[in-house]
Amino acid sequence: MEPTRAKHQGLSTLNDNQTPLRRASWAALVYLIAGVAWIAFSDSVAEAWFPDPETLSVVQTWKGFFFVLTTGLVLFAVLFRQLAKDRALLSLQHSQRQALRNRERQLQVLMDNLPGMAYRCRYDPQWTMLFVSQGCASLTGYEPEELIENRVTSYASLMDDEDSERIFCEVKAALANDESFSLEYGLTCKDGSRIWVWERGRGVEEDDGTIVLEGIVLDITDRKELETELEELATRDPLTGLFNRREMSKVLEEELERARRYQRPMALLWIDFDHFKDVNDTYGHAAGDSVLRSVSRLLLGSVRSVDSVGRFGGEEFVIVLPEMDLDEARDTAERLRRRVVEAPQPLGDGNTVPLTISVGVAVYPEHAQNAAALCAAADKAMYLAKDRGRNCVAMAHLHDQVHNES
Ligand code: GH3
Ligand code: MG
Ligand code: MG
Repeated sequence: MEPTRAKHQGLSTLNDNQTPLRRASWAALVYLIAGVAWIAFSDSVAEAWFPDPETLSVVQTWKGFFFVLTTGLVLFAVLFRQLAKDRALLSLQHSQRQALRNRERQLQVLMDNLPGMAYRCRYDPQWTMLFVSQGCASLTGYEPEELIENRVTSYASLMDDEDSERIFCEVKAALANDESFSLEYGLTCKDGSRIWVWERGRGVEEDDGTIVLEGIVLDITDRKELETELEELATRDPLTGLFNRREMSKVLEEELERARRYQRPMALLWIDFDHFKDVNDTYGHAAGDSVLRSVSRLLLGSVRSVDSVGRFGGEEFVIVLPEMDLDEARDTAERLRRRVVEAPQPLGDGNTVPLTISVGVAVYPEHAQNAAALCAAADKAMYLAKDRGRNCVAMAHLHDQVHNES
């Protein structure tokens, strides 16, 4: 690196004003003036100093030799300097070309081995690609030539419509602050499959003032799937796939808040299997699990899409029914109770077992004003149903509200 820089500095002394013609003219002019001056003055000086004609003749000869020697040396110095400069220039060009080739090769290796693709595109709604690396084919299924200049399709058309606006806004904000942007969005590949990608890029101003975007796009589908899996683990009960207690508590709080805000009713069903311990004791724990799964499916399939079903623990389930008043809630609970009793539950070995449930019903705003009180009222009603002989529905008592709220 250092010798190249030194050579470069040496060459930087070349002045753009010193064109070859001007420099050559100067050299010739200096030579002419020096030559004429030499001829004009050296002869008269020699004649003055050496009046003897014989000596003068010898001096004239040596004077000629001296002139030839001096001009030869000057010519040598000038040519040597120029040729050395030419050589330094050629060597610099060579090393620059070599460095450029090395950089291009390194860049190519880097691009080809990126786990995604590198791109350069216009800042336009189509996300018009000007360059995409080879990784594009394995990422999207499209060859680079198919995306460049939107020849087959535009990159933007691979994005979901609902993502496009968000992405545009995020890129716009990043460009306004002269920052890089990081985006996550879904892409539809050439074969119709869906992937998740992470993109990082920034805006670059071209010589003509237009802005282009440069960056990389990586496939993060595996990470996204893992995130979804973890989210499911955190919110779902692994045996039944229903919401777990924590998620159900969250749903209840949210629905209560909504009901409060829009002054709408909301019901909570508290369900417990009757004599479920007997199922486990008689047929085994695995058979009990099979019954739990089957009843879960049945409950989920018997409510509206806006309703939420969760397993609170053991064989206790809760159902949140938004926008449902007292009478509708009672009817729904009764319908669920009947569906369970009418459908013998599979034990997983081809046999079935009859099962009944006891259901407690509490309704906002009649029975309670907050989640904890509503749960307590529904739970208490469920025990009332147990007391009444099981396989029945019990409503929370209106006077419980005073008790719950205290
Ligand atoms: P009751 O009518 O009074 O509710 O009687 P019960 O036998 O259902 O009594 P309880 O509700 O107290 O018993 C719950 C039983 O549920 C106890 C336990 O063996 C069973 N159980 C709880 N969780 C699971 C589970 O994940 N799998 C299985 N197979 N059984 C469970
Ligand atoms: Mg029970
Ligand atoms: Mg129980």
